[in-house]
Amino acid sequence: MRVNEKAPAKLNLSLDTPMRYFDGSPRWDMVMTSADLADYVTVETHRRPTTIKVYTDSGFLPNDQRNLAYQAAHILKSRFHCREGVTIHIRKNIPVAAGLGGGSSDAAAVLRALNRIWRLDLSLDELAKIALTIDSDVPYCVYSRLAHVTGHGEKIELLPAQPHYWAVIAKQQISVSTPQILRQINYEQLEHLDNERLIASLKAQDWQEAVKYMGNVLEPVTMSFYPEIKQLKDKMVSLGADVAQMSGTGPTVFAVCHTESRAKRIQNSISGFCRDVHVVTLL
Ligand code: ATP
Repeated sequence: MRVNEKAPAKLNLSLDTPMRYFDGSPRWDMVMTSADLADYVTVETHRRPTTIKVYTDSGFLPNDQRNLAYQAAHILKSRFHCREGVTIHIRKNIPVAAGLGGGSSDAAAVLRALNRIWRLDLSLDELAKIALTIDSDVPYCVYSRLAHVTGHGEKIELLPAQPHYWAVIAKQQISVSTPQILRQINYEQLEHLDNERLIASLKAQDWQEAVKYMGNVLEPVTMSFYPEIKQLKDKMVSLGADVAQMSGTGPTVFAVCHTESRAKRIQNSISGFCRDVHVVTLL
């Protein structure tokens, strides 16, 4: 049987970390949403061979157990003793290692697809629990809609959908190592966000108020290595974005705009010095 799943990019409307756990991993406090920039994942099962195979159209990605989509298939296969083989084809549109959760979203898409193919009847909440064993963004990506995400990434409160908004997503030719950025966090120096007010504004569907409380406390950490990220962000603001900020640990910066024409104008103005630029709607 074969199933197609869309794997949307995630964006951090806010990213904060109030503390580290004893094992050194960050406790997250984030508001996340997804964009209509997506990878396309096709999952097929067969009786022979019984192995997992991953194919992508990207020359840079691993096809073995290092691929998060492979890990998702492996976990469901072993946990539910499914003997069938799994073939996964991923058409990548989400830039890799960009702070857009592409790998996590591919993994979540595989979980949703195999849940249907193998008729496991797991709820999204149950899939999200399994997803946490893959990576911290995978539970959110199981839902891929506006949510408040805390803990290691496993506590997810879904928030109401918002009015139609556009975003310009821009990734410079920089590779950011998430573990390296997380190791550099000095918790004493972080300027924490008011996520409670952000969430209250979103619950009231007051997007104009919400943009005032968006932010990413890791920007100074990543920007200390890559000052060009700040230049891009400042340019987007000067071009009229409602807000511009980094997603995840970067390097991607996104600008939120309340009209498509404004988003297109920003896209045109920055595409001269940043090649990977997309205008998207927020889900
Ligand atoms: P994170 O913030 O979780 O590190 P990211 O959003 O910055 O992730 P991804 O595109 O998910 O970036 O890639 C992060 C790493 O995961 C890359 O080093 C990549 O090799 C690896 N990876 C494994 N599987 C995938 C996949 N299916 N798609 C993209 N990257 C993958």
